[in-house]
Amino acid sequence: TNEFSFADDPFAKMPKLKARLLANENPLGIAQSAKDAIVKATEIGNRYAWMEFAQLKTPIAADEGVKPENIMMSPGSSDVLMAAAEHFAKEGGTILTSAMTYDDLLQRAQKFGAKIKAMPMTKDFKYDLPAIKAAITPDVKLVYIVNPNNPTGTIVPTADLEAFCREIAPKVPVFIDEAYIDFYEPADRPKLGKLVAEGMNLILARTFSKIHGFAGLRLGYAIAQPDVLKTLHAYTNGEFAVSITTLMAGVASYKDIDWQNHCRAENAKARTYTTKALTDLGYEVIPSSANFILFPIRMKTKTFEGQMFAQGIGIQTRDFNGQPYCRVSVGTMDEMTIFIDGFKKVVG
Ligand code: PLP
Repeated sequence: TNEFSFADDPFAKMPKLKARLLANENPLGIAQSAKDAIVKATEIGNRYAWMEFAQLKTPIAADEGVKPENIMMSPGSSDVLMAAAEHFAKEGGTILTSAMTYDDLLQRAQKFGAKIKAMPMTKDFKYDLPAIKAAITPDVKLVYIVNPNNPTGTIVPTADLEAFCREIAPKVPVFIDEAYIDFYEPADRPKLGKLVAEGMNLILARTFSKIHGFAGLRLGYAIAQPDVLKTLHAYTNGEFAVSITTLMAGVASYKDIDWQNHCRAENAKARTYTTKALTDLGYEVIPSSANFILFPIRMKTKTFEGQMFAQGIGIQTRDFNGQPYCRVSVGTMDEMTIFIDGFKKVVG
């Protein structure tokens, strides 16, 4: 069963929105340094990007404790997810994951012939790593973990995740989708790159779409063993799918620690405000470590979503185990005020 799919296409409704809170984008935009880099890069837009990839892979490799050959750039992390889905599904078998998680890779894998086994979450809406471990059978081709998880916003303890990877990766490849990792305080971030450096069969997927605000520019990367990257590469259009303007913007944004800290701090502020406002209204909010919040609602998803959209507020809704939920992305404080005011009107 697929309980992950959106009720309908929320993107079709986006243009008229007052508060665009449905795709976990960065409401503050891209860094000025990245904008300047784009303008400058137009001067070399006639050239294929080649040596320039090193300008991004070298600092990423240094930060992650891996070698540049452990990194493959891509136009957004979706390309890495899709490549892995196709590859690990092609001989059938099972992709093992958790319920209530991001389903793009899973849906694609299903299309290519894989079965999906999704273990229930813990009571506090976290990945249940012991349950996943216990569910590993010989037909499991890949374990897919999203941390921080979308849509719950929860994280698993770093030590548990590391121990899980050390135990499981020698048997089954483990794919960790780290799209929201930049919302951790830098000192608290899991450092799974060191396991890749030790030779473990992990695939880490990263994106510039979130804290860097590159959702429209499209930039992401995978960290894995070079032979695994080579395999995945064969399912993609290759790194040339990344434009030189986006690449140079990425180089600038990656270095722009002040901007990243600013975006993280603003996100935390607006998230705290929204969590408190919903809690004060009597709603049980799942504590989020990312740039979105999930909470159960007391109306049918379609009705709720329709009434919010009618006010120009874009959110997403889904049913999990028969319970309707709203997932609201964390926008600016202004947008979150609009969201809370609109929410009050809908729920009375
Ligand atoms: N992984 C997760 C968990 C996501 O939520 C998203 C997008 O929202 C992606 C991957 C893909 O993002 P992108 O292709 O923009 O990097």
